[in-house]
Amino acid sequence: MSLKEKDKKYIANTYARFDVEIVSGKGSVVYDADGKRYIDMGSGIGVTCFGIADDEWVNAVTAQLNKVQHMSNLYYTQPCVELAEMLCNASGMKKVFFCNSGAEANECAIKAARKYAFEKKGSDCYRIVTLENSFHGRTVTTLAATGQAVFHKDFQPLTDGFLHTPANDLDAMKSIVRENSIAAIMIECIQGEGGVNPLTPEFVNGIAEIAREEDILLIVDEVQTGNGRTGEMYGYMNYGITPDIVTTAKGLGGGLPLGACMLGEKTEFVLGYGDHGSTYGGNPVACAGAVSVISRMNRGFLDAVKAKSELVFKTLEGAEGIESVSGMGLMIGIQTVKPAKDVVAKCKELGVLCLTAKSKVRLLPALNIDEETLVEALNVIKSACAD
Ligand SMILES: *Cc1c(COP(=O)(O)O)cnc(C)c1O
Repeated sequence: MSLKEKDKKYIANTYARFDVEIVSGKGSVVYDADGKRYIDMGSGIGVTCFGIADDEWVNAVTAQLNKVQHMSNLYYTQPCVELAEMLCNASGMKKVFFCNSGAEANECAIKAARKYAFEKKGSDCYRIVTLENSFHGRTVTTLAATGQAVFHKDFQPLTDGFLHTPANDLDAMKSIVRENSIAAIMIECIQGEGGVNPLTPEFVNGIAEIAREEDILLIVDEVQTGNGRTGEMYGYMNYGITPDIVTTAKGLGGGLPLGACMLGEKTEFVLGYGDHGSTYGGNPVACAGAVSVISRMNRGFLDAVKAKSELVFKTLEGAEGIESVSGMGLMIGIQTVKPAKDVVAKCKELGVLCLTAKSKVRLLPALNIDEETLVEALNVIKSACAD
């Protein structure tokens, strides 16, 4: 049986894979089983932020692997504490809970918000407002948070207590907050899976103001937008707001499963012994990789992300077959004239791996992609959009 046939026989049918088996790579270039070269413009859905087999990351991970691969949270280990300190310094948050994925980071945020509101405002104050077209994960609770009916329909009943309101409609947000007792508002500053749509500054700042006035917690889901992706350490920093809880995952581990729920001043003491836990959470190997990733994201690095972003917009905006370009930093959505799926298939043929998000072609390249490789990929994408 071929790998493809075995995959079909043994792997649950939840993924429609591209017909490519990647066997090796370096940085933003990967090779398939036939030796064909591709430029990777998806970085494992925004995960491998320093590319494939990045030397510094590999060294950090292997060094830890050769010391201790796992001890559980019953014991102290150095990488997870070091990483928590880095994340608090980078975000201004006070405490970190480590887990293994974005959905789990959001689960922790939801639990913390519910407990905070229960203790402060009583048992009726458990509702969390999220936005239509949002994406917060695949567990039964984070699905309930996700404001997209398509993901809900076969899995009812979902966790109770989530209300959805349209993005960028501050009046609608105000009335939902007025008419219900609300524990928290949870947003992605740039809706990623929803089509790479940045929220407007007016809306984000308006929400932050409502949250502050009403003592409603503001949770920002930075699973996709965090860790330098937008040219700032976290996406919300582009808006000048201070959230109460920040969740992240994807790029954090640089290629190993790692999520974090960061708790700000209001919530740092909400979760106590036994309130939450994760066997793998804060795994030393994953955290050692994350330390190597996060420690390199200084101002100069983030400015380089912004410069590459400008190059992407300048190259693609107004090109033949491209209607519009959206996003921030190296999180890019391209509204193409042709169906996005066809463009992505053509790019694959021409040696560039891209993603889609709703009706758009989505790019999430490694943040350290060099300009020459980026330009090469953009030219391929342009030609795939045009023909
Ligand atoms: C990917 C994503 C998630 C889910 O992360 P997993 O690691 O797949 O659980 C949650 N929120 C946002 C914004 C995401 O992009």
